[in-house]
Amino acid sequence: MLSANQVKELLSKQDIFDILNELGGEPKFHKSVIISKTICHNGSHKGKEKLIYYPDKKIFRCYTECGNFDIFKLVSSVLNLDFINSFKYICNKFNLYSKSDNYEFEYIDNSFFNKFYKESEKIELSILPNYYLKSFYQIYHKSWIKDGISIEAMKKFNIHFSIKNNQIIIPHYDINNNLIGIRARNLNENLVNEGKKYVPIFYKNKILSYPTGANLYGLNINKDNIKKYKTIILVEAEKSVLQSESMFFNKSIAVALSGSSLSSYQVNLIKNLNIENCIIALDKEYKNNDSIEEEFYKNKIYLTIISKLIPYFNISVIWDIDNLLSYKDSPLDKGKEVFEKLLNQKIEINE
Ligand SMILES: [Zn+2]
Repeated sequence: MLSANQVKELLSKQDIFDILNELGGEPKFHKSVIISKTICHNGSHKGKEKLIYYPDKKIFRCYTECGNFDIFKLVSSVLNLDFINSFKYICNKFNLYSKSDNYEFEYIDNSFFNKFYKESEKIELSILPNYYLKSFYQIYHKSWIKDGISIEAMKKFNIHFSIKNNQIIIPHYDINNNLIGIRARNLNENLVNEGKKYVPIFYKNKILSYPTGANLYGLNINKDNIKKYKTIILVEAEKSVLQSESMFFNKSIAVALSGSSLSSYQVNLIKNLNIENCIIALDKEYKNNDSIEEEFYKNKIYLTIISKLIPYFNISVIWDIDNLLSYKDSPLDKGKEVFEKLLNQKIEINE
């Protein structure tokens, strides 16, 4: 079994170029480095050419947002895979198996992964003082009201507004109501078009971001409802949590993953709630029913989310069988009537 570091050593500059190319980074060799689009935070085929690979150190650096990371982190960000699956992806691509592996990953020595998981469970989040929010205004932007978010819901989740930067300000709290991060939704169209729809904010040069995979947005507010109904609804974005609060005032059970994959840390947060049912309500990432994209998306959700929860909970998935949603919609984007219809015909997963 090769270790992660050994795999990294084995990958040539050309191999990295090929991976970037496959992931949609449109890479170019430039002097001793490789330049790529910032697919790390923008997804495939998007972003500016600010992602640089340094072959001597075997690291990537994203000059826009993400900082330094390795090839496994890149693959896991772009494809929404966990570490093991991004490792498998790379080994499969370059046939990096040793003979004793018997071409089966079931036989691998898990010590490295176990170490990785143990470390990932120990994430310590720093608590931010509440006065960081004082420079923003308690005003509520019409674009969110138009999208079905009530002012009451925005007040409850302490949403603010930055007049200076034309941003909706979204404070993130941990389960115990500690402020752990502040994110912003840009409204300036040029920034949105650059892929900077949701961004971290700064306070006196300190970035107020945190690893969102170490939290579930909205759990501090909705935990009592979730325990009472023994059910949780997992959505992708903060906005869906606010829409849910607007629809089911004081009875919402939705929390956001702040992304489209589920970390082991988030699994533990859910396990500690002592509940029975998980409803998965992610954005619609395919255009047509019965397409290859739909099939691919199904598999991705199974691999990145369902497989991690199924040992512990009854799982059901909201799936847009009747084409009620548009491409990229969350199941809550078309209002309460559509959401309740989708909820009533959710698909139970029994394996
Ligand atoms: Zn990046």
